[in-house]
Amino acid sequence: MSAQPSPEEAPRARFRPPAVPQVEVRGFWGARVDAVAEKTADILYERCVEAGMLDQIDPDRPIPELRIPFHVHDGFTASTVTTQMFWDSDLGKTIETAAYSLYRRKNPELEKKIDAVIDMYAKLQQPDGYLSSWYQRMQPGLRWTNLRDCHELYCAGHLIEGAVAYFQATGKRKLLDVMSRYADHIASVFGPNPGQRKGYCGHEELELALVKLARVTGNSKYMDLAKYMVDQRGQQPHYFDEEARARGADPKNFHFKSNEYNQSHLPVRDQDKVVGHAVRAMYLYAGMADVATEYGDDDLRKALDRLWDDLHSKRLYVTGGLGPSADNEGFTADYDLPNETAYAETCAAVGLAFWANRMLGMGPNTRYADAMELAIYNGSISGLSLDGSLFFYENPLESRGGHNRWKWHRCPCCPPNIGRMVASIGTYMYGQAEGEVAVHLYCDSTATLDIGSAEVTLTQNTRYPWDGAIGITVDVAKPTLFALHLRIPDWCRKATLSVNGSPVDLNAAKSDGYARIEREWKAGDTVQLDLDLAVEQLYAHPEVRQDVGRVTLKRGPLVYCLEGIDNPLSLNRIRVPAASSFTANFEPGLLEGVVTLAAEAKADVTGDWNGDLYRTAAPKTETVPIKAVPYYAWDNREPGEMLVWLRGG
Ligand SMILES: [Zn+2]
Repeated sequence: MSAQPSPEEAPRARFRPPAVPQVEVRGFWGARVDAVAEKTADILYERCVEAGMLDQIDPDRPIPELRIPFHVHDGFTASTVTTQMFWDSDLGKTIETAAYSLYRRKNPELEKKIDAVIDMYAKLQQPDGYLSSWYQRMQPGLRWTNLRDCHELYCAGHLIEGAVAYFQATGKRKLLDVMSRYADHIASVFGPNPGQRKGYCGHEELELALVKLARVTGNSKYMDLAKYMVDQRGQQPHYFDEEARARGADPKNFHFKSNEYNQSHLPVRDQDKVVGHAVRAMYLYAGMADVATEYGDDDLRKALDRLWDDLHSKRLYVTGGLGPSADNEGFTADYDLPNETAYAETCAAVGLAFWANRMLGMGPNTRYADAMELAIYNGSISGLSLDGSLFFYENPLESRGGHNRWKWHRCPCCPPNIGRMVASIGTYMYGQAEGEVAVHLYCDSTATLDIGSAEVTLTQNTRYPWDGAIGITVDVAKPTLFALHLRIPDWCRKATLSVNGSPVDLNAAKSDGYARIEREWKAGDTVQLDLDLAVEQLYAHPEVRQDVGRVTLKRGPLVYCLEGIDNPLSLNRIRVPAASSFTANFEPGLLEGVVTLAAEAKADVTGDWNGDLYRTAAPKTETVPIKAVPYYAWDNREPGEMLVWLRGG
């Protein structure tokens, strides 16, 4: 293949996230990263093996029997979709999680196993560059016949992301070269030129992966293909309809009825509602945000802001989870946010963090960073047990005790998705640009950032999110002029900031919710930021029928819940009066150390009902102590009830 520029020569976005090894994470996230590096990364590989994935991809083994039966039919081919079709994506994310974990902890055994998987893919790749374990081994001859349903390009995207991460972590470029050849093949098959297919994937993902590939290889062809696929989506004549007819199927027999399911119902620039499958939507918007950043495309950004408003004003759980329905794994109607049946897939909250993070490429703005923080601290990491070994697919906001973590899933998309997000969490904390540094998230950490003319090291000393005091020490080789942007979260009612002991007027310094301090920084300069972490009771919009009359507790970025183990009575008997005063207590021995919230609340009494099911007298109440724990940490002890939205007054 042709010589490729080194990563250093890759094009720059306005605000680029740092690479994983640029940020040494300690504190709250340090413990989470350790769990992934010490446990999850190995577990993901082992469970992929147990699921039979290597039998499918290894060309030296006999072609295996189908392990997971087809479950969707399109009315023509007897068999259309099984989650086994997406195994390349699960391996791609497993490789990516392993790669990021290697920065944290050397793991030669796992590296050897991943190298062997990569060897299988290299051997499997066809001479023209095509690579799909499913279509080469399980359903040969059907290549490019059903982009709508079968995740063919989605799998390519995840393997590309894995390849980029593994190259960056190990310097080994075998998979990167394999996937570059595959991307070259895709770029020859799909595009605007005569004879090329005008297609894109039913499950978005390749778009954002191509942006990563373009950045690491410096090959703008991949960026252009990402832009093409974003812009081609939803154009007429509709690719998925033509493709269905070409394989002899009726487009009307689409299992999910409407192309809203895969966000191809309209060209993306004309969209203003978040619809369909939630993970697909988040991946699409993430790819759009990358394209908007790279091409300085304000028109695309406007569409993204409309979609952002729609999600945040009508369709997002208070936990940062999204997509309430299991039927389409996605969105339903405005204000429809059921709690006990919430689907709120782990991958969807992870996808929101991806999208928000990429919006920050266009400049620091709390609108995006607050949402990223919400999704990261709540609805995404709820999907991973504290010890890193067990997982949730759905993240409901209420449970009667029967929703518990599992070892593996027939559709194991979530475990490696949360694994790769946590293992790369440092990249979400900062943004770096020419002469500018943005601190998006606070966490005890040391980051070495590249501002073009110089390197800047920022050391954060903090117990955040348990405590709002954040000390930052600046280190530079020589006095350097740059702007430091510090996020002042919108949820924070009282913040104070000082530089080398001198107070900064936040009203004057703030822009888009970030304090901007531009000065000549010297080694040893210190910044002190204090964010008030008051316990707040939140109400939902009155149209959210499931939350009427209810409140939830939030402290800083963390949403809280009650668990049965701490509150031994039916949780819906509890009422939290508006005047309740909560005390926040750090409990080092509980759930690896959390701040719990305690208050006196009311509970409806049952002792005087004497066997009646109904009566004319209202229930009597008694005073009971209640204790709430952070939502992300629920179901890490014995199974029991859980409730996020508590009865008010
Ligand atoms: Zn998932």
